[in-house]
Amino acid sequence: MHKLIDNFGRQISYVRLAVTDRCNLRCQYCMPAHGIDIVPRKELLTYKEMYRLIRVLTELGVNKVRLTGGEPFVRKDFMSFLEMLSYNDLLDEINITTNGALISEHIETLEKLDKVKNINLSLDSLNTDKFAKITRRDVFPEVYKTFQLLEKSSLNLKLNVVVQTGFNTDEINDFVGLTKDKNIALRFIEEMPFNGKGQREMKENWNYNKILEEIKSQYSVENIISEKSSTSRNFSIKNHQGTVGIIPAFTRTICNDCNRIRITSIGTFKNCLFDDGVFNLRDFIRNGASNDDLKELFLSLIKEKPENGFIAEANRKQGSVSESVSTIGG
Ligand code: SAM
Ligand code: SF4
Repeated sequence: MHKLIDNFGRQISYVRLAVTDRCNLRCQYCMPAHGIDIVPRKELLTYKEMYRLIRVLTELGVNKVRLTGGEPFVRKDFMSFLEMLSYNDLLDEINITTNGALISEHIETLEKLDKVKNINLSLDSLNTDKFAKITRRDVFPEVYKTFQLLEKSSLNLKLNVVVQTGFNTDEINDFVGLTKDKNIALRFIEEMPFNGKGQREMKENWNYNKILEEIKSQYSVENIISEKSSTSRNFSIKNHQGTVGIIPAFTRTICNDCNRIRITSIGTFKNCLFDDGVFNLRDFIRNGASNDDLKELFLSLIKEKPENGFIAEANRKQGSVSESVSTIGG
């Protein structure tokens, strides 16, 4: 079998697929208050097209998919798509990133889908008012209910917190406190300037080191050896059931072990979060490409994978990064 191996010897085994660009929230670090310009529905990949792209990728060695967006649960029939994807016998894991506002009623069904293993829930504040300020929507009770249900479920729960200067840095150690008696993988994410309108003014730079310092001011942490391609550096705390991680999303110290590619909701292939899209897969398949054509294409695209996110950013044709993470598929 041909495998997807880039020019730096990295084997690609994980694809992140944005199933939609639409979202029910308006997180201030992700998009402007009025939302982003969403594309007409026919420009989105159909579920059949997504299934086919994933199938071909799994025949090239990909064994994990993360479904993201926009908000995946906003797209009609998303649960049926999960079932459809579960039929792919070459896929070991289907993971989902969600804001949790629309999923509480689906958790029991998700538990029954064997391949659905990890749910990444985004929750940036434990305070109702602050949560509403960050997301520009008043849905904290529903998201917190999802958090509690997921925590009790058989699914692995990762809790994503984007650390935002001026908004939630005072809550970092409250979040860490949650790991004392909850078996969750808490992960702090460095805020990136991808919000559909360009760089937000940041009072302080809450990067990996500063976040870690803040945690260490209250807790004594120990390094955990994580999976080689893990996006986070992870820590344990004595007598805590859960773990704490930091994702250096913006300082990009994790690129050496990258095993990921991305496909946006309109079918743009991305070798890196920071590139500006290298191929329109949707038009390629709508113009009649066969699965063999697709395989050949993926094998050649992967050879263009940049060594790291800084090089990817420098090679952009569209200038510095300003698009919303919801269109990229975070
Ligand atoms: N709507 C879903 C959600 O919020 O979980 C999935 C899509 S969202 C774009 C995926 C992840 O990207 C979330 O964890 C979100 O917090 C993160 N994200 C969005 N914009 C970001 C930014 N500017 N910097 C860092 N992380 C960001
Ligand atoms: Fe929507 Fe997720 Fe972006 Fe928030 S981070 S606006 S929930 S896509």
